[in-house]
Amino acid sequence: MTLTIKEILSSSTKPLILDGGLGSEIEDRGYDDDLNDPLWSTIAIINHPDIIKEIQKDFMKNGADIIITCSYQTSAIGLLEHGKHLNIMTENDCIDVFSKSNKISFEAREEFIKENPKLFENNRRIKPLIAGSCGPYGAYKADRSEYTGDYKNVSIEILKDFHYLRLKILLLSDEINFIAFETIPNFEEIKAIVQLFDKLVKDLKLKDKYYSLSLSFKNYNTLADGTKIDEILNYLSSDKVTQSEKEHIIAIGTNCSPLLFSHKTVEYLNKFNNKLHLPIIVYPNSGEVYNKSGRDHSKDPLLDDFVKEAKIEDKNDYNEILRYLTKQWVANGAKIIGGCCRITPANIKCIHDAAIL
Ligand SMILES: [Zn+2]
Repeated sequence: MTLTIKEILSSSTKPLILDGGLGSEIEDRGYDDDLNDPLWSTIAIINHPDIIKEIQKDFMKNGADIIITCSYQTSAIGLLEHGKHLNIMTENDCIDVFSKSNKISFEAREEFIKENPKLFENNRRIKPLIAGSCGPYGAYKADRSEYTGDYKNVSIEILKDFHYLRLKILLLSDEINFIAFETIPNFEEIKAIVQLFDKLVKDLKLKDKYYSLSLSFKNYNTLADGTKIDEILNYLSSDKVTQSEKEHIIAIGTNCSPLLFSHKTVEYLNKFNNKLHLPIIVYPNSGEVYNKSGRDHSKDPLLDDFVKEAKIEDKNDYNEILRYLTKQWVANGAKIIGGCCRITPANIKCIHDAAIL
């Protein structure tokens, strides 16, 4: 019998390793012609499925227990608004794209297991899981509001509509082990997800459906829109959220936030998580700062203070920084760990080794 993600998390003493930055890896492998398209990683689902598969297999080869589908930017509203040049005109066309994205990850996982049978002998490793990515409303807006949480007072109903169709298809897919809500920067969007998820599971008469809730932070204890973590944890543990709504959440944490405060976020969440007792998920970006103008990246301004505090001698020793942070995450209760933008398969190996070996 296949265990659910909830059962795996409660029985595993070691953290589960997530993959790294799929979008940035697609770009690094030369498929960057459509970077300015608001659907750009979706175009890869349609035009470069083999590249996605190859990258996901590379992440599993380097220790990832969980791969995340390429559907971060693939919302129905986004597809219908911007997908005409991809011949996406109807809801059924959107469903085809979601299904294709699921199939790519499913095939990557099955091929990887088939090509590496020894890795799975005697339960040495769990059969990799597939998380269905749901990016935020801000990813559809393509105005970087997933990093500011500034949704210009958009209503909770619009946020539910935005998440509805992709979530429904991911929930109906047997290939998806759990849903990963990623880079959520806005408190109203958290509420929309909590309510919509439970309603959909009930309407579709499903059971054992779960999601991780990864938030976009502006500093180590504050959501991008300015809400303090405490307020979010209080809300999630309060009776404003029904027991049934609560039971779907399997982890709370952060992704795509700056690497060098990720350990402080995990520490803070761990300290204030006493009412929820939820496993912590953390997969920050590489720590480089994205320069809007030139599509390039520069060093994190937090670096000098960080290496001093962590007593890391060589600030250019990126593996040492990753090892230090991984150990901090795990020591503070993180149960699902990995990387987001510009975290490569080699970086995942480093995180894996520091966490597991
Ligand atoms: Zn990211």
